[in-house]
Amino acid sequence: MKKYDVLIIGGGPAAITIAKILGKVKSVGVIRPENFSMIYCAMPYAIEKVVAMEKTFKQDSLVTEAGADLIRDKVASVDFDGKTVFTEQEQTFGYDKLVIATGSVPFLPPIEGVDYDGVFVFKWEDDLKCLNEAVRTKKHKKAVVVGAGAIGIELALALNNSGLECHLVDMEKTVLPNLLDPEMAVEAEAELVKAGLKLHLGARTEKIVGEKRAEKVVLNTGEVIDLADDNNPFGIVVFSVGMRPRVKIFENTPLEIGKLGIVVDSKMRTNIPDVFSVGDCAQFVSGITGELTEGKLATNAVPMARLLAKNMLGADREYQGFYNGAATKVGRLFVGGTGLSETAAKKNFDVVTCHSELTTTFPIMPEAKQVKMKMVADRKTLRVLGAQVVSGNPVTDKVDLITLAIQSELTMIDLANFSYSAQPYQSFFPANNLIVACAEGILDKVSSKDIKD
Ligand SMILES: Cc1cc2nc3c(=O)[nH]c(=O)nc-3n(C[C@H](O)[C@H](O)[C@H](O)COP(=O)(O)OP(=O)(O)OC[C@H]3O[C@@H](n4cnc5c(N)ncnc54)[C@H](O)[C@@H]3O)c2cc1C
Repeated sequence: MKKYDVLIIGGGPAAITIAKILGKVKSVGVIRPENFSMIYCAMPYAIEKVVAMEKTFKQDSLVTEAGADLIRDKVASVDFDGKTVFTEQEQTFGYDKLVIATGSVPFLPPIEGVDYDGVFVFKWEDDLKCLNEAVRTKKHKKAVVVGAGAIGIELALALNNSGLECHLVDMEKTVLPNLLDPEMAVEAEAELVKAGLKLHLGARTEKIVGEKRAEKVVLNTGEVIDLADDNNPFGIVVFSVGMRPRVKIFENTPLEIGKLGIVVDSKMRTNIPDVFSVGDCAQFVSGITGELTEGKLATNAVPMARLLAKNMLGADREYQGFYNGAATKVGRLFVGGTGLSETAAKKNFDVVTCHSELTTTFPIMPEAKQVKMKMVADRKTLRVLGAQVVSGNPVTDKVDLITLAIQSELTMIDLANFSYSAQPYQSFFPANNLIVACAEGILDKVSSKDIKD
């Protein structure tokens, strides 16, 4: 039986991150079943041919050139006492330290018809291949995407841009409900409509009907979306309604599993000695509220994994929690958010907010586009809790800056004093800055007696 210093179950971004850091200094094994790890974030763009599908397949050399062994197999069970992993192909591996990075699986609601032909989720190589084939062969003319989060929107636009009549359904009344407050979602919604998408917001998908294939989608509003066209009696339905931790093989084992995944401490240790967990399969708290929160993002998985690998090399870092900075592109708009939206923040804080709107360059410059920010702060401490940005230009730099401010527990006074740069092609006039404008606006709204000593 081969024994590894570090054995990783999983081949996603979390596992690859650890293999890259430890592969040359420890014996590392990475076990994953699929042919390719995917660049998930780019999958929608492969559907609309912005990138070739093959470019979304990560090369095995990412793991092997890092010095780790890649074992293409699926773990069936783990004997934690014997420190042994058993695979479906009846291989057995020993470990000194075990890292569980089994990621997540897309959630399929328990409704009639989710097992019919034409119904998909959107994560795996096969999902991408099947949807790509459907688009390429023009076999189907109509599609429904359920879930108007970032992935759902990117996919719906990709299907729409590929010539399908595409319907986007969400039970919330506005799009990107976890990223944007309703008033910040208005422009994104308009952009989707302008692109030709048919929006069904505030509508729950009740069932899919047809002869074991997706012929119609029935919503609780009474609407029925007919997926048949002249040549084909059924269409495509894709569920993009969230992820669940992939922890089934650990049910009925001593490994502690919570509502949102494997329970870990700030050093990614599970309740079992020498067993760690990182990425989508691990549950963690918000870095702002300390409460359990969803955070199934590669930008959370990778830092968790890096921290664990560095600690295995002798560092003593602790994970602060999820801040969930994220971004997407909606037609011509770039949209992002971080921390808590106003809606989310109201559950724990007395919230004060401000909007600011400037241009992405000096307004006199030919390329100037609108950029809007909404900032959310705690009235009592004046700490920044979150922000949302909608712009004609990419927004991740602004989103990340606010995330850093949240992580650093900066207040509106700190942000009002923010020392920024300005240049005609790259910012608004020196006279103002989005972050400063929001912070000053919030300070104007809060009387001095509200400021904590
Ligand atoms: C379409 C799409 C777009 C996305 N876009 C973004 C984005 O723009 N930005 C962002 O930050 N995040 C994005 N995400 C989320 C991001 O991809 C995930 O958060 C990230 O992949 C999590 O990494 P992970 O390594 O924890 O898990 P995963 O990537 O889920 O990998 C888990 C691995 O474990 C393996 N595994 C599971 N069970 C076993 C077993 N029993 N034995 C062996 N191996 C096993 C799996 O096969 C897989 O290789 C997107 C996700 C999707 C699906």
